[in-house]
Amino acid sequence: MQERKGRVIRISGSLVVAEGLPMPQMYEVAEVGEQRLVGEIVRIDGDRSYIQVYESTSGLRPGEPVYGTGSPLSVELGPGLIGQIFDGIQRPLKRIAESSKSIFVLRGVKLDAVPRDRRYVFTPSKELKPGDKVGPGDIIGYVDETPLIRHWVMIPHGVSGRLIEISSEGDYGVEDPIAYVEADGEKIAVRMLQKWPARRPRPFKEKLEPELPMLTGMRILDTLFPMAKGGTGAIPGGFGTGKTVTLHSLAMWSDAKVVIYIGCGERGNEMTEVLEKFPTYKDPWSGRPLMERTILIANTSNMPVSAREASIYVGVTMAEYYRDMGYDVLLVADSTSRWAEALREIAGRLEEMPAEEGYPSYLQSRLAEFYERAGRVVAVGEPKRIGSVTLVGAVSPPGADFTEPVTTHTRRFIRVFWALDTALAYSRHYPAINWITSYSAYVDTVSGWWARNVDKEWRDLRDSLYSILLRENELREIVRLIGPENLSEPDKLIMETARIIREGFLKQNAYDKIDAFASPQKQVKLMRAMVNFYRNAKKLVDSGVPVKIIREKTQDLITELIKARFTIPNEELDKLGELEKRIAERLSQIGG
Ligand code: ADP
Ligand code: MG
Repeated sequence: MQERKGRVIRISGSLVVAEGLPMPQMYEVAEVGEQRLVGEIVRIDGDRSYIQVYESTSGLRPGEPVYGTGSPLSVELGPGLIGQIFDGIQRPLKRIAESSKSIFVLRGVKLDAVPRDRRYVFTPSKELKPGDKVGPGDIIGYVDETPLIRHWVMIPHGVSGRLIEISSEGDYGVEDPIAYVEADGEKIAVRMLQKWPARRPRPFKEKLEPELPMLTGMRILDTLFPMAKGGTGAIPGGFGTGKTVTLHSLAMWSDAKVVIYIGCGERGNEMTEVLEKFPTYKDPWSGRPLMERTILIANTSNMPVSAREASIYVGVTMAEYYRDMGYDVLLVADSTSRWAEALREIAGRLEEMPAEEGYPSYLQSRLAEFYERAGRVVAVGEPKRIGSVTLVGAVSPPGADFTEPVTTHTRRFIRVFWALDTALAYSRHYPAINWITSYSAYVDTVSGWWARNVDKEWRDLRDSLYSILLRENELREIVRLIGPENLSEPDKLIMETARIIREGFLKQNAYDKIDAFASPQKQVKLMRAMVNFYRNAKKLVDSGVPVKIIREKTQDLITELIKARFTIPNEELDKLGELEKRIAERLSQIGG
């Protein structure tokens, strides 16, 4: 193929203007300068191509060559992705560090995302034999990528025909042909390694209702504002309110099969912390290293912010690939505000007309495009698989002002809103998720799962718990006006129960061994003990017993109940049922 070449005429930060590149395409990857820095063509204007370069352009001079690659920004897919740490354009940071003895990415360095030197034992599918018809997404066998992830090898998109050969069980590299397909008289080699354009969603057969909860072990999330597998969510919050801690907890504890963590460069040391901590974490479900089911994307500080823009698409493409195998994938991004800032910077350099607060007018549609890639789907190909991509993005609004553009636009495209509250964080109520302003559109859809798998009364208990909290919120205003002692007795009981719920249920210490993760059963049992306390005490109050007496007589047991979140482990839930009974007995004694 003839080389398509132009030359640099202007450099403005990470934006390079080139002239004379024949037939440029929008979003085509171009290589810029003698060092062949990676960039994407983001605008074409006559003979000029505007190239967003994803590496530092310092030292680049006008007159240097620019090469067209003819392909869009692509993501490599295949076994070997799990456990890796990539930069925003899928370059393997660890291997770059090893090869260059520097943690800084060398400019122009091209290392394969999917390692070429690893070999895997391929086991062909028993259902397939030469002569069978195969098409995109069909599973032809598997390799064990890590002890936690069985990697199903799929026929790539664009390939369909008759299987003429499939490798027998054995050791293969990702570039070795492991099958041949005959299509239109042509013999096509199928390899484990595939490529996919990052900005194009991978196809699926059918979108399903996300009706299974994505369990997180965080009570306020699972019980009050549940996430669904295949759902979308945002965690907005001011500085220091707990966005990163919450995303870490999700990455660690959620019952997703594969987790992709994108660090968009929130704070300088934050990404370093992730890179140091994650490799030491254990997956609580299996006891294996967490990295055996995790991919990290780190937007390092020495790369231009524009690489962040690309990192979201690189991450979600990998997520869709594992979804297509039939897995539940969770992608978290910390934070999408930093990503939006990258959009703003690129738009600024292109001298586009800014909309609100300098963000480009297409901020909305970009956010929509990102969140639309979530979903629970029937994958393309045989045998039938159902997989999901769940997307959760932190949002860091300046000054914790939720009316700013990124937060307001994000709200349109997500269905779960976990609002972090500066006042709660300040009073050390963690997780500082505000139960009045947060919401989940999945409460109805996941109720069935809870009823079938955990407890028939889940929905009833959950709604009772929630309504006590809502009622308390209304009463707080009244208390401010008239003082707590002037509340009616039933309202005093609401205040007392809400205190128990806040202290013993909503608060959860991410760093406590027992408290960090509450099993669904533990959540229900705690909730039932609290709701039943309320219901039994309410009967006493209605028969004239003052709340003050109830409080005095049950104080020791209530203290026990509030502490149960970190004294009673998930394995000893009988103790919770027993405590609930003791509280009921004590209350009945007051009545009698
Ligand atoms: P943000 O990312 O919003 O700036 P962080 O996630 O870094 O904030 O949280 C700031 C601090 O708040 C943490 O270092 C930790 O001390 C505390 N914190 C937040 N959430 C929790 C939690 N669930 N349990 C215990 N401490 C928490
Ligand atoms: Mg943070």
